[in-house]
Amino acid sequence: MSDLCALSFDELQQWIELQGGKKFQAKQIFEWVYSKSITRWEEMTNLSIDLRAKMASSFHLPTLQLVKVTPSNDLETYKFLWKLSEGNFVESVLICSGIRRTVCVSSQVGCPARCAFCASGQQGFVRNLRPAEIVEQIVQINHWLKDKSERVSHVVFMGMGEPFKNYEAVIKAIRLISDPLVLNISQRRITVSTVGITEGIHRFTKEGLKVSLVLSLHAPSQHIRQKIIPYARKYPLEDIMKAMDDFSLKTKRDVTYEYILLEGINDHPDHAFELAKLLRGRQCTVNLIPYNPVRGIRLKRPANKAIKDFRSVLFGSKIVNTCRYTKGDDIAAACGQLAMMEKLVTQEKLLDKPEDNQNKLSLAS
Ligand code: SF4
Repeated sequence: MSDLCALSFDELQQWIELQGGKKFQAKQIFEWVYSKSITRWEEMTNLSIDLRAKMASSFHLPTLQLVKVTPSNDLETYKFLWKLSEGNFVESVLICSGIRRTVCVSSQVGCPARCAFCASGQQGFVRNLRPAEIVEQIVQINHWLKDKSERVSHVVFMGMGEPFKNYEAVIKAIRLISDPLVLNISQRRITVSTVGITEGIHRFTKEGLKVSLVLSLHAPSQHIRQKIIPYARKYPLEDIMKAMDDFSLKTKRDVTYEYILLEGINDHPDHAFELAKLLRGRQCTVNLIPYNPVRGIRLKRPANKAIKDFRSVLFGSKIVNTCRYTKGDDIAAACGQLAMMEKLVTQEKLLDKPEDNQNKLSLAS
């Protein structure tokens, strides 16, 4: 069995023709799945029974099972927890801002990068998501938005996982997401975020995509980066910056550097001076993100004064910067937090006495 949501339009047309069907039936199927968000063969009523039976025995329709949707207090951010066919969990986050409907998708179950500040990193790596499992996150959120007559408008690869460690699947998913016959989301509205996988940045530069690239920088120097990002030992900052410069030069696209502010680690004005020195002369924006504390991780968010002082140094050095106070703090919307919480709660349920479970479960609801 293959995943229907991993097929391009041409691939489906070819398959249908091989079965003795007509090309236009591919269009009908794509309309059912991607425009009408129908995920059951028997509801595709304009297809012959014979074709439906052949399709059902050859292809999986969306397989992600929605476990729960957790809204933030301001109803601007929604976290979707999905159960995969083998029982693992992944998550997506929908951020509603004006008319934008941005979905932050996951590309892996857990993450091999193991960044010190990240919930996904603490889970370790389980497996790569298949292209269809990435695309389905958007298909199913479109289905969820249907009642409001809304659709996903932007996609960011910033959920669980390091996208360039699942390179082929992510590129295939991007091509499907941006295909006018599939999800029809412009590549200019898609962003990939990497922790700095140099060979991935070089490959990405050559793909001919119009997708934006974000580097999760998080430190002004190799020395500090190594303390919080284990991959930094394998991928030196100097090489990563050269790869980012090359991307910017060849694709003519500006790049963004994300910098999570961690109290006592990378938030001193001296770090801001070092960061300004690193980025001087580069066409870029720094997106500062005060840390959103994660249960079980001791790192802290800096005080507002420290954030202000840090930004003052950047402004003084003419480094364009924004400060994103994470949307959805109240629903643990930083990458991996909900899936990790679900895992913890499941483990706690198994380990604890039954009478203790009610309190533990309320943490995740
Ligand atoms: S921050 Fe990103 S790259 Fe690092 S562990 Fe988390 S998901 Fe992986």
